[in-house]
Amino acid sequence: MSESSGPVDPRADDSDSHGGFGCAEVIAEVWTLLDGECTPDARERLRRHLEACPGCFKHYGIEERIKALIATKCQGEKAPEGLRERLRLEIRRTTIIRDVQQRPAQ
Ligand SMILES: [Zn+2]
Repeated sequence: MSESSGPVDPRADDSDSHGGFGCAEVIAEVWTLLDGECTPDARERLRRHLEACPGCFKHYGIEERIKALIATKCQGEKAPEGLRERLRLEIRRTTIIRDVQQRPAQ
C-alpha cells in the first residue's frame, strides 16, 4: 500500500515533478540565469521550486549559491565571475552524475 516501501532510490526523486516543475528543469533555468537572462517568470519558478522541493538544492548542495545568483541577477547586476564559475562547475558535475544514474532507467 505504501509506495514508500523499499530502499530509497535517488531515481524516485527525479520522477517527482513538484508542481509540474521538475528538478531537471530547475537546472535548465539556472543555466539560463548563468547565461545572462533573468525573467520574472524564471525567477518565480525557481523560487517556487526551492520552496516546494527543499531536498532538491540541498541535494545539489548549491542552494545558497542559487539564491545568491537569483538575487544578484534579478537586480540587474552581473553575477560575480567567481560565483558563475563555481556554479557552472558544480551544476555540470552534478548533472553529469545524475544523468548517468538516470540513463539505465530508460
Ligand atoms: Zn527538486
